[in-house]
Amino acid sequence: MFKGIYHGKNCHLPDIATVLNRAWSAGVDRIIVTGGSLEESREALAIAETDGRLFCTVGVHPTRCSEFEESSDPEKHYQDLFALAKEGMQKGKVVAIGECGLDYDRLQFCPADIQKKYFEKQFELAYATKLPMFLHMRAAAADFCEIVERNKSRFTGGVAHSFTGSALDRDKLLSFDKMYIGVNGCSLKTAENLDVMKGIPVERMMIETDSPYCDIKNTHAGIKFVKSTWPSKKKEKYDQESLVKGRNEPCLVRQVLEVVAGYKGLGDLNQLSSTLYHNTCRVFFPQDLDTAADALLSGHHETN
Ligand SMILES: [Zn+2]
Repeated sequence: MFKGIYHGKNCHLPDIATVLNRAWSAGVDRIIVTGGSLEESREALAIAETDGRLFCTVGVHPTRCSEFEESSDPEKHYQDLFALAKEGMQKGKVVAIGECGLDYDRLQFCPADIQKKYFEKQFELAYATKLPMFLHMRAAAADFCEIVERNKSRFTGGVAHSFTGSALDRDKLLSFDKMYIGVNGCSLKTAENLDVMKGIPVERMMIETDSPYCDIKNTHAGIKFVKSTWPSKKKEKYDQESLVKGRNEPCLVRQVLEVVAGYKGLGDLNQLSSTLYHNTCRVFFPQDLDTAADALLSGHHETN
C-alpha cells in the first residue's frame, strides 16, 4: 500500500517518504518495520537502513510458516534467518525476532501444527541472538501460552501485539513477566475490547499502529475518544497532503494513545505516552533507556 498498490491494483505513486514525514512531524520518534517472512525481513532491513529512526524485525509470521517446509531445507531457512538477524544487528537495525506466534483465525494459510512447530523454533532464534520477540497471537491463547511457558528460559522479553483476546487471555499473558501487551485499532473495536484493554496496566502496555492495517474506523467503539484527525481521501483520489481512507499509517498512533487515555480516564496524555515509550525502549532499545527514554520521562512521575 505504501508502494501505491492495493489488492494488486496500482492506485498511486509510492509515498513512503511522505508517510514517514507525516509521522516525524506528528511526534513519532522511531518506527519498527515488521518482517513476516525471510524475504519480507530482508525488505524490512533495507527500509530500516534508509533512515536512522527506522528499525526492523526478522522472523516468520504464523500464516507464513509453511515457507520453512516449502524451502525444502527448513534448517537452512532457519540459518538464513539467523544470518540476516546477525547482519541487521551489526548494522544496529534489527531489534526483535518476529513477528511470530500463532493465528488460528487464518488456518487456511498455514495449519496449526506447522504454526506451532515454527513458532517454537523462533524461540531458538531469539535465544541465539539474545533479542526480544514481537509476537502475534490470534484465537490461540492456550497453545500460545503453553509454548511461551515451555520456552520461558529462552524468552528475554517481548510484546504480544495487536491484542484482541479476552480478559482471561490478557491475564495469562500478564502472568509472564517480561511480556507486554500491544494495543492498536484492532484492540479497540468493541465495547468488550475496551474493557479488556482497560485492565492492562500501563506499565505492561505498548501502543502501535500495525500500519497499513488496523486503523480506527468510525464504526469502532473507541472512535469517540479520538481527538486528532487528518484529512483523508479515497485511494482513487490520492493526494499527498491527505491520508488514504482505510490505510493506516504511523502518525495515527496518536489516536491509539487518545483512546487508551480516554477509556482509562487518564487526563495526562504526556505522562501516559512517556510510560508507554519507556516500556518500548525497555524491551526493544535497552541501550537507550538511560538517555532517550529517561530524558523524556524527566519531569514526570511513573504511574502505578
Ligand atoms: Zn500481527
